[in-house]
Amino acid sequence: MTATVAESNSSLMEKIVALTKRRGFIFQSSELYGGINGAWDYGPMGVLLKRNVKDAWWRAMVHDREDVVGLDSAILMHPMVWKSSGHVDGFSDPMIDCKTCKKRFRADDMDGAICGQKPSKSPTNCGASDLTEPRNFNLMFETFLGPISDSSAKTFLRPETAQGIFANFANVISTTRVKVPFGIAQVGKSFRNEINPRNFTFRSREFEQMEMEFFCVPGTDDDWFKKWVEIRKRWYTDLGLSDGKLRLRDHDKLAHYSKATTDIEYLFPFGWGELEGIANRTDFDLRQHQRGIRTVGKWDGGDLSSVELAAEDAEYQKGKLSYFDDEKKQRYIPYVIEPAAGADRATLAFLCDAYAEDNAPDANGKVETRVVLRLHPRLAPIKAAILPLMRKDGHPERARKIYDDLKRRFFVDYDESAAIGKRYRRQDEIGTPLCITVDYDTITDGTVTVRDRDTMQQVRVSEDKLRDLIEEKLGL
Ligand code: ATP
Repeated sequence: MTATVAESNSSLMEKIVALTKRRGFIFQSSELYGGINGAWDYGPMGVLLKRNVKDAWWRAMVHDREDVVGLDSAILMHPMVWKSSGHVDGFSDPMIDCKTCKKRFRADDMDGAICGQKPSKSPTNCGASDLTEPRNFNLMFETFLGPISDSSAKTFLRPETAQGIFANFANVISTTRVKVPFGIAQVGKSFRNEINPRNFTFRSREFEQMEMEFFCVPGTDDDWFKKWVEIRKRWYTDLGLSDGKLRLRDHDKLAHYSKATTDIEYLFPFGWGELEGIANRTDFDLRQHQRGIRTVGKWDGGDLSSVELAAEDAEYQKGKLSYFDDEKKQRYIPYVIEPAAGADRATLAFLCDAYAEDNAPDANGKVETRVVLRLHPRLAPIKAAILPLMRKDGHPERARKIYDDLKRRFFVDYDESAAIGKRYRRQDEIGTPLCITVDYDTITDGTVTVRDRDTMQQVRVSEDKLRDLIEEKLGL
């Protein structure tokens, strides 16, 4: 990247961050107290946008499919879950400390890291560093259940939602009519004590995941893996993300549990970043939990890292987390394909992709720069704004009537606060696809103007056609 491209990308990112604050999308957590690193609050617009992202995911993954069911498992789980899953021993990043500036860096990102004393330099060439050897730092947040803070009460805030799915595999099978191949999906908060939270919400310590575990017959897993990579990439483009800014990246170095992993990456203003990882996790997790449940009775509440998991039963294919195939009259442990996406990263990508500046005339006809969020209508926080032209002559009453009617079907806004041009700009900046204006003609002939966010073109339509028009225009 040349210096000028990097500069313009960083100023674009600054503009997007400023817009999200100005319009109530995203605030720094605890800003009032000086802020806390790696945690973010979604304001009135942000909560709607992120909810629409999660709803679109839920619709595509659960509602529209016959082979996927939903789940909402607890954030707090038995500590042995994290031993069996491998997180206690392996969910760590190698870190390097600088004894001079006291900062900690990820060993695999020393060139991208910033020296604690000379922010223009990296810690390897700042001239004053005194670096330790890399040491593993576990990313799980520890907490204690109940009043006693000893190792038997210690557990973790979940670093992923997936393990709650594996832990409920047997419950779902025994209480529903699912048959392999099938999936279990859930959306929820996860926590990782990231060493270096950065790039706005992209790398946070508290974030939301949208994960699905798809259980299939061993041998069919390669095909399902390919299918899920395609399905998941299409989800982003169907919701308007630019195809040219998405890429698939296959991992060459695979995690020990994975047979294949492909990331879906988006070109953010700060560079390519992972939106979602799709992994073929084989039968690793279910088998590990079978070992875990054979171990838990013997655990004395001591330090989990010195616990050894029980060996796998020779008959493990018939264990508690196996599946019985009614037709073949056979038990086995299914393989798992996992599309694991981040709700905050997806939201950020949709925001970055939607951000645009163009030219529009102000109230006096003077052309000025207009900031507009060209969000897909399904994601837009507000679907239409109802604006009385004047705050008199019956306009507010008529506009309110329309608003009351439309809000039963769509998320709409009513705004009579400023000059009409200013109100249009505000709606453009939060991505509202349509503005409906009530004026003098409305009072006489029952028509309103409908302004399109992207083209800024206005058409006159009869009030009673509004519901149909919104549905059609927004593809809802
Ligand atoms: P990265 O390599 O960027 O740390 P990861 O490969 O560890 O991510 P996964 O464990 O595959 O991520 O998690 C699935 C998804 O959860 C990611 O694709 C991402 O969208 C989201 N996610 C993971 N870590 C974070 C984080 N610290 N902040 C925000 N979202 C995250």
